[in-house]
Amino acid sequence: MRIRTLAAGLLAGGLLLTACGKEGTPTGSGGESANNAAVPTYEVAKDVKLDGSPVFTKIKSAGSITVGVKDDQPGLGQKDPKTGKFEGFDIEIARMVAAGLGISEDKIKYTTVDSGAREQAISNGQVDYYVGTYTISDKRKKLVSFAGPYFQAGQDLLVRKDDNSITGPESLKGKKVCSVTGSTPIQRVREQGLTEPGNIVEFQKYSQCVEKLTTKDVDAVTTDDAILKGYAAQDKDALRVVGKTFSKEPYGIGLNKDDKVLRDKIDDLLQAALDNGTWQKIYDATLGKSGASATKPTIERY
Ligand code: GLU
Repeated sequence: MRIRTLAAGLLAGGLLLTACGKEGTPTGSGGESANNAAVPTYEVAKDVKLDGSPVFTKIKSAGSITVGVKDDQPGLGQKDPKTGKFEGFDIEIARMVAAGLGISEDKIKYTTVDSGAREQAISNGQVDYYVGTYTISDKRKKLVSFAGPYFQAGQDLLVRKDDNSITGPESLKGKKVCSVTGSTPIQRVREQGLTEPGNIVEFQKYSQCVEKLTTKDVDAVTTDDAILKGYAAQDKDALRVVGKTFSKEPYGIGLNKDDKVLRDKIDDLLQAALDNGTWQKIYDATLGKSGASATKPTIERY
């Protein structure tokens, strides 16, 4: 229900802006604007060879790819309950990469993996790669590897609209703060003692935290601004993002630690998408629909 509301809201917003921006021009008569942009189509590469990549060898023999994603993060990775289709910025990045590896859309299997289960799902081969608001960190690099970054977010706070007492991370003492198991934001809340240990509430999914915020069982949800903005847009009358980020969360594509050949290839695909306008098109058709803009990330090869 909420998902539909968001989609309708985004659509209405897009139409409204289009109408304002082009006075006298009938809608749909040409000229793509950021707000009615459609996701691009990706050319499926032919005869891809990646000697020395165990994961790619497995993909080749299966003829399909299993991608780990999120299913409850609007604008990023979300499963439409009606159609069962996945959509969002992360999903498009996953599709673009699959096409670059020679795998067509109908051969992509999406598997939901929540934050706390990512390293295990990647290293035990349950997913071939993972695209889901996954921050590149040194700690995680001990278990998995990362292509990218393909986006940069920052930790922020989601609160009830009528609550003016929370103005940033320094105002969380005595407040109930919700985040997700195995995420960098919950780790930061703990390490920096932003609230008392007894006030930290933990779930598997951010949507569960948002539910608790609405029912006043918690006072704030903390994670990346990109994620929180999606929830706020679904419930504009009740929720708001504080808007003061207090960390850097560069998003990487999670990969098997030992597969440098695949990592280098995916870095090449991301670089090409950044250079040829595909990345921008993906952004405009997903996260950028709210009117936000983003700086392109710089791929860090290692
Ligand atoms: N980017 C942060 C992380 O990787 C928060 C979002 C998430 O849990 O996916 O932990």
